[in-house]
This record gives sequence, structure tokens and C-alpha cells, in this order.
Amino acid sequence: MNNHKVKILNFTNQEAVTYSIIKIIGSVQYATKPVCQMQKDTNVYLSQNNTNVLVSTNLINDKFKFLVQLVSGKNQIRIKYCCETVSIVLEYFPVISENAVIPLYVICEDHDGCFQAPPWESNNIESACKRITLGSKLLQCVTAEKLYEHGLGRKSFFLNEECQVFKSQIKCQDARNMNQMQLWENVGREIMKSPIGSDHRKYLAFLSCTKYYGERFKQGITATHDDLIEMTEGYVALGGGGLALFGTACLYTWPENFDDVILRFEDSTPVNRAQFLDDSCYRGTLGACFSTTLGSVLHELFHTFDLGHTEEGIMGRGFDNIYKVFTNSNSPNQSVDTGYEAQRTFQDKIEFKEEFEPDSLLERLRSENKKKEFIVIKSFEESDDTVLSRSCAVILCYHRWFNQTISKQSSLLSLDPSNKLIRSTAGIRVVEIRSLNRELVLHSWMFDGRILKFSFQIPEDLLITMGNGSYLIFVEDTIGCILKEELNV
Ligand SMILES: [Zn+2]
Ligand SMILES: [Zn+2]
Repeated sequence: MNNHKVKILNFTNQEAVTYSIIKIIGSVQYATKPVCQMQKDTNVYLSQNNTNVLVSTNLINDKFKFLVQLVSGKNQIRIKYCCETVSIVLEYFPVISENAVIPLYVICEDHDGCFQAPPWESNNIESACKRITLGSKLLQCVTAEKLYEHGLGRKSFFLNEECQVFKSQIKCQDARNMNQMQLWENVGREIMKSPIGSDHRKYLAFLSCTKYYGERFKQGITATHDDLIEMTEGYVALGGGGLALFGTACLYTWPENFDDVILRFEDSTPVNRAQFLDDSCYRGTLGACFSTTLGSVLHELFHTFDLGHTEEGIMGRGFDNIYKVFTNSNSPNQSVDTGYEAQRTFQDKIEFKEEFEPDSLLERLRSENKKKEFIVIKSFEESDDTVLSRSCAVILCYHRWFNQTISKQSSLLSLDPSNKLIRSTAGIRVVEIRSLNRELVLHSWMFDGRILKFSFQIPEDLLITMGNGSYLIFVEDTIGCILKEELNV
């Protein structure tokens, strides 16, 4: 028999995906069987399409993880550990969908398009577009894996792959003087009035002229995340409707090339706050900046797919560790202790980018350890600290940006406010009751089985416990029709 059973845990032979970057997780059993003569090399190697390029990773708790960029069509993947090799074929089908996400790099009228970066990083328009395109593909991968973990298949949003440049009429200084909401509104309006504007698109946009004024940073003096944001003009991280919009103060921490993704996540170089924005959830490294900002892009993008907030997970504050989705989880740089003198005092206050109630960093980090409680652990145990609640996952699964064929179908979806009865001719998939202001999901019901649910009444006894007040009710049906109405209890 085999000396070491090398097993791929999350893909089977001949599986097909509609997005290009995938994560392969596997395990090696009997890794230390003494009969093997060659076991000194404990690395696992991956080769793709019979090339001589070998990617290696180490085995942690007998598990390995690879990030792979597929080419269109069939991809032969070989994974080798010591004297054993397993091989599978995975197919990548690029999909052109009517409903797609368009990555955009927004350049103000009088701006040269160079984002803020240290001199050794390229920061021109081409570089920005490469980083944004790659980041968008990574988020497609995370999304698909999260749905897969919930047993909903490997679905993701459709991406119009290459990032486009969008020339704004807004003057650079005007943009820098706007607050986040004003930026979101103005850029959104411009995009929708432009030739690329369409209701069938969601725009994932990055503003080139964000500027962090490092000279305002005083070494040794306590600066909260909020203080650092104060020193940044054109800072934005806001998503909803058809637009998720971001500043570019940390774009230089993102990789340009696929081969650098893991290295960038693991980059433990401290951020020089005298020059660049430290948006790392107080971890202070370039790798943590990449992780926090990529995670926040996912959070905001998910708002454009109609997700509300959850106490924990990606739609709460649990996106800072998105690096764990991709890297072997004990990367050295991601410990909270970055050795910054002021770090202790940072923990007194953390302001979230959105209008959340302030929450302490400790609580935020503590809550990250609780997340396993509400994730469905599938056949492989992947604890990556980046979870999506089940109602969020089901919303995405039936969402029009995740399904190719259903956009032209229609259904009747209604709510009778007097008896709180919901009906859908296509079958109800998710019902959520959210708070009115933050859209925090308070109660949810999922019907993702094969038997369709054509009507649902909010349980009377639940309504009684909720007391008098105004809430939001959110419903999505099988063909992605959405109802969102105020509910008065
Ligand atoms: Zn061996
Ligand atoms: Zn949010």
C-alpha cells in the first residue's frame, strides 16, 4: 500500500469552477511511516499542466494548502509528498454573465493616477489595475469557498475580469475634501451616468487620489485608528447599492502578481506610519494591512449583494484575518503583538470604518475565537477565522450576481403586513429580520432544501418577544427576487 496517503479534501477529479483562483486543501496520512526512505523532505509540492514549475508548501498538522491560478479549460494538478503523487483534473470555465462585478480604478480629473506608495513599489495606473484585478479574483475564491463550506456549492459572483480605468470629472482636491458618503454618492452618480453605467453591474471601485499625511503623525503620541484616518484624505470604505468604493492608501501592500500573494500576506515589515496609513487592525505590518483592507473590501462588496450585518464573521468585524483563508494559518507576522510602544493604548478604542458603535479591540479579537460556534464544519476542518453566517451564504447562493440563468425570470414576492405573511411564487429561500439602522440580522430562516416554501408566516410568539418597534424584513426567493420592507411590530 501507499506509504503516505495524500488526499485532496476540497476538490474531486473533473470538477469545474467559474473563477480562476482556487484554493486546494489536502492532508497526508501516515506521514512518518518508517518504511519510506525519503521522508526527510516534509514539503508538499504542486505542479500544474505538466510544467516544471513546482510550488512548495509545508505540512502543518498533516494538512497542506495551495493557492492555484487556473488557465481556461482543463488543468492537470499534481501534488507530490515524498514518494507519493496524486493527480486531478480541474476545469475552469470563464463565464460571461449579464450581472457582473466590474473592478474600477477611479482617477480624478487632475490626478496622475499614481497611488501613494514607497519608491520601490510601482504605483502607476497599470500597477493599480493589476492589484485590483488580482484582489477581486482572490475575493471570488474566498466567496466560493465560504458557500462551499455551507454545502451550497462553489458559487461566486461573476467578475468582468480586468480592472478598467474610470476618469472622473471630480477634481482631486474636491474628492479629498469629501467625506465617505459624499465620495460614494458622487462617484456612484458619475459611474451610472457614464457609458459603462448599468443596473446589471456592481462596481468595485478604488479612488486613486487617497492621501495619507504622514507628516501629521507624531511618533510616540497615541494615535487611534480614527486619528490615522483623520490624517487621510479621500479615505473611503463603503459599499451598498451598485457600488463598493475604497481608498488606495494601503493598495501598495497588495500584490501585483499571483505568485506574490502568499508572500504579501506574510510580509511582517512594519508599516512606517510617518509615511503610510496603517490600516491593519493595530497589527502594524504590511501583511496585516493587506489582510484587513482586502477583508474590508469583501465586507463592503457583500453589502452590494444585499447582505446586512452579523454580530460576527465577515459581515461583522471578522474579516481582518482573511489571510488565513489563503496561507497556512501559523504565519509568523500575524500575531497581535507588533512591538509598537503605543499598541496597548490603541486597544482602548477602535472605531470601525462604518458607523458602528465603538467596540474595543480586545472584544473584536476575542470574538474572532468564538466564530467556530456558528460555522458548519464540513468534511475538512478549515478554521480560517473568516466566516459567513448561514443566512448570508444562502442569500448569496440565490443572488442574481451568482446565477447565470435566472435573471430574466420573474416571480411574485409579497408581504402582507397585517398577518406578517410572506409569499413567493418561486419559493422563499431566506427571511431575515434586521435592525432598522445598522441592518443587523436579528432573526433568520433558511429554506434551501429541495422542497419549495411558497409561504412563510413570521412566528407570532417571536413577534411578541420583539416588543413594539420598527425593523427591516428582508426576503429572497429562488430566482433572486428581493423584498426589503420596514416591518412594524
Ligand atoms: Zn515516502
Ligand atoms: Zn458593513
